[in-house]
Amino acid sequence: MAEKITIGELHLSGCTGCLVTLADNYEGLFKLLDDYADLVYALTLVDVRHVPEMDVCLVEGSCCLDDKLSVEELKEAREKSKVLVAYGGCAAYGNITRFCRGGQWNQPGQEAFVPISEVVDVDLYIPSCPPCPQEVRNVAVMAYLLLKGNEEQKNLATAYLTPLMQLAQRGNEACGCDLMYDVINQGLCMGCGTCAGTCPVRAVTMEYGKPNVNRDQCIKCGACYAQCPRSWFNFDVMNNYEGIMDAIKGAMQ
Ligand code: SF4
Ligand code: SF4
Repeated sequence: MAEKITIGELHLSGCTGCLVTLADNYEGLFKLLDDYADLVYALTLVDVRHVPEMDVCLVEGSCCLDDKLSVEELKEAREKSKVLVAYGGCAAYGNITRFCRGGQWNQPGQEAFVPISEVVDVDLYIPSCPPCPQEVRNVAVMAYLLLKGNEEQKNLATAYLTPLMQLAQRGNEACGCDLMYDVINQGLCMGCGTCAGTCPVRAVTMEYGKPNVNRDQCIKCGACYAQCPRSWFNFDVMNNYEGIMDAIKGAMQ
């Protein structure tokens, strides 16, 4: 087995749900740490105070521009990691932190929370709030296969990771209208209602099994887009589905 890759988790302005989701892999996390990845940086999980060199850095939370330490840490993480990941809806789109406009009791000076791609280049998004535990585990395994695997494994990993890279290339602006254009109008919506349940201002309502977006009410936080399971739907993954799942299953045995 090739040597392990190194993974870190940089915690910015988020609720820690993404970090919890990483730990929620239970035995899967142990297997990951035994065979594929060393966790070299993570709030509360690793006793390291300075951002180290790493293969993959998962960044949780949006970046507060008023917080110089966060901005510097994020830039340092970018310099020191081969692959920088916006881990979760807040890092990718701002999500609920878009709501913050200063005056909070514990952080009165913090006003401008932005998706991390407004500060540094981002290679890959893992959307959702928080992402499911299996998703982050799969990304970690696929990153390992991409960096250390044979040709066939590299191809499968590329097929799996490409939609997440394309999401990062698409940019950090996502609103209810994007959900309409990219998902609903494309016939990809399966009527699950997640977008309506996610919207913090109730701008999305389900009508006759389909979401309806009230544009005037939308604050463009991107939560619905980050959470929608079809916003990064990709046929390359579907066509390679069995091979990808076999590779992940094999790796986790
Ligand atoms: S529709 Fe709601 S969840 Fe979606 S971007 Fe607008 S405010 Fe955010
Ligand atoms: S979350 Fe996506 S798939 Fe689910 S109802 Fe909303 S638009 Fe449709």
